Formats: sequence, C-alpha cells, structure tokens
Amino acid sequence: MSGDERREVLRRGLRAWLEDQEAFGIEDVPVPRASEPAGGGAAVEDAAAALAAIAEEVASCTRCGLHATRTKAVPGQGNPAAEILFVGEAPGADEDRSGLAFVGRAGQLLTKMIKAMGFEREEVFIANVLKCRPPGNRDPRPEEAAACLPFLKRQIRLIRPGVIVALGAHAARNLLGTSESVGRMRGREHVYEGIPLVVTYHPSYLLRSPGEKRKAWDDLKRALRVIGREPPPPR
Ligand code: URA
Repeated sequence: MSGDERREVLRRGLRAWLEDQEAFGIEDVPVPRASEPAGGGAAVEDAAAALAAIAEEVASCTRCGLHATRTKAVPGQGNPAAEILFVGEAPGADEDRSGLAFVGRAGQLLTKMIKAMGFEREEVFIANVLKCRPPGNRDPRPEEAAACLPFLKRQIRLIRPGVIVALGAHAARNLLGTSESVGRMRGREHVYEGIPLVVTYHPSYLLRSPGEKRKAWDDLKRALRVIGREPPPPR
C-alpha cells in the first residue's frame, strides 16, 4: 500500500470512528493531547485511526458464517487511550441493531459497574471476543472465536490498557487460552501480553444471579488497584 493509500485508509477510519463516537452521544472525546503516549501504546491519534481502520475491516468481514446473519458488526468503542478495557462475549440483539457494544440490559449494568469504579463509559474501551451476533445469542463456536480474535488482539495492542477486565468465561478463556471456569479464574492474577487481566462475571450472569454482584465488585476493585486507583466513596 502506498503512503497516500495508507493515509486515506487512516482518514476514512478516523472519520468512521468519530461518527461512532457521535452515535454513542459523545461530543467531547476525552483523549490525552497528541504528544501524550496512550498508556504505552501508539500515539493517541494513530491508535484512534488504526482502531477505526479495524472497525472498517470488521464491518465488511466475512471470515466466519456470522456475517450472513448480522445486521451490523460491533467492533467495540471507547477511548483509544483507555486505562481499562472491558471485554465481553458477543453482541446481542440490541448491539446487532446499533453496531455498539453493550447497549442492552447487560450494557446498562456494565455502565453502572463502570460508574461505580469512578469512570464514564466513554473513558474506557468496551469490546467483545466476537464482533457479530451469534443467532439466538447462542455461545460463540470455537471456529468463530478463532476467526474473530485477531481483531481484538490488534485492538489491545493499540490501546495497551493498564488493565483488561474479562467479562465472563468466553472473554477470559479466549484471551488466556484456558478452559477454566470463571469461579476458578477470578480472584487470581492473570496477564495477557504483559497487561494485567482481571476476570469477573459477565453482566448478563449478574442480572440472573444478583447475589454474585458483591464478588464482581471485589473483582472491579482489584482492577482499580492494578491501575493504582481507589474506588470512589459510595454515593
Ligand atoms: N453481551 C456481550 O458479551 N457483549 C455485548 O456487547 C452485549 C451483551
């Protein structure tokens, strides 16, 4: 690809990313200034443009059968210089319709979890293992995860967050290459490509089992400690 073509891809990507932010209701994008490195990753504008280019690739991806049934692909969205990256399983019906990760009921709970940690949604990055909805919200198939995971891995390399919060078994297992249960993985230290990774319950599970929210809050406090932050006082 020539320099001009590369710049055009980045320009288109950046435009798409800004449109996503607008669709998400974000008017002021809270990213550090150009000179600040993004959490050890690429410079912020470069990361934003490269993330947008990934989003474009995802939108036209046909690597697995899920492209045939999707309404919109859901690349993930948020701050390219995020301190915290949340990784879920796969888009559901609301996400498939909107093209945005975690906007349904589970997303509303995730928003509360993020706020409890002292962050706004647009300050973090939210993505999934699968970028397209499995029909009827069935579990991701191994071949679908294998086809899609390279997108998430590229996103992580660009963002280089201070901590990754894996929401549920599919996120944790795919990133850590294990088949352990969430119950066994949570409360322990994990590392993905040099980045600390905290495992917690998926918000959909917490909606079904609200009694587990206290344990999830312990996990989120662990994630805050990893990035040297204290949980804000309860409101
Ligand atoms: N569940 C997920 O894992 N991801 C979403 O984006 C929504 C629901």
